[in-house]
Order: sequence, then structure tokens, then C-alpha cells
Amino acid sequence: MIAIYPGSFDPATYGHLDIIERASGLADELIVGILDNPSKTSLFTAAERKRHLFDITKDMKNVRVESFNGLLVDFARKCNAQIVIRGLRALTDFEYEFQMALTNRELSSSIETLFIPTSKEYLFLSSSVVKEIARFNGDYSNMVPEIVRLDLKQKFN
Ligand code: ADP
Repeated sequence: MIAIYPGSFDPATYGHLDIIERASGLADELIVGILDNPSKTSLFTAAERKRHLFDITKDMKNVRVESFNGLLVDFARKCNAQIVIRGLRALTDFEYEFQMALTNRELSSSIETLFIPTSKEYLFLSSSVVKEIARFNGDYSNMVPEIVRLDLKQKFN
């Protein structure tokens, strides 16, 4: 089974990494799909986000990192993927994720969304929280992998 884990990953956090590790144990092949959306402003370019995820997942043999734009269902079709993985944190994620899952199913009935609940230590962790802390020079070393931490430091210096 080929699965896609799509997201902005701006930047990748330990919460993302946890989902990647767990999903890679379920799928034969897991493709981390970085959404390169020109109309969405991001702190890191798609190339930078790809480098982060590439580094973080380099020891996971069945994980591949790609960037994509356009519709997720089209990217999934191109990759021959049947499963879309999404992480769920608090209930607040649910409505948006549910809407996305139903919309994607409407667009392509052969694709199923699989939700993986967050591990409790990452319940309140998000890329935007990390960026906010980094902007104000707080300590986020337990929230992101080393490569992301170094790049964040450089961005805000
Ligand atoms: P998007 O803009 O597509 O929501 P994100 O990079 O914010 O992109 O998130 C990608 C996926 O990772 C989403 O399914 C999101 O719910 C999940 N995710 C983000 N942070 C965490 C976390 N701390 N624990 C579990 N899942 C998470």
C-alpha cells in the first residue's frame, strides 16, 4: 500500500515526525508531500522544507519526500497512492480535516483518508506555534529536529 502524508511542513516539527514514523510502519511506501502553494506565504521555501524532511527521514527506507502543487487527489493518482494520512490533534482539527477528507473522496472515490491521532506530548505542537516562539527568541529545541532549529535560528537572526 502506498500512502501520502501531505502538508505544509512550514517547518517540520516532532509532531510531524511522529506521524511519519507511525505511518511508515503501516504503509509499504510513504510519500511525504510538501504542498508548494505559491498563493500561501510560507517562512521556508518548498526547497528548504524538502531539505528538512529529507534529512529527518533519511534513515527511513520506505519514506520518500516530494513537493507538489495543485490538487492532492491528482498528486495521489500520479503516485499511485490509495491512502492519504493526516494527523489529528485536538477536536479543533476535526472539522477542517473531515471536510477535506470528504471533499477528496468526492473528487476521487478510490482514495481513503486515514487519521492518526497525535501522541499526547505533541498535542499542542504546531508549525505556527514554533514560528511564534522563534520570532520572539524563546526556546523551541524540544519541538523541532536539529536541522530545523538551526535554520529557524538563522531566519530570525
Ligand atoms: P496543513 O497546512 O496541510 O495543515 P501542516 O504542516 O500544518 O499542513 O500539517 C500537516 C499534517 O500534520 C496535518 O494533518 C496536521 O494535522 C498534522 N499535524 C501537525 N502537527 C501535528 C502534531 N503535533 N501532531 C499530530 N499531527 C500533526
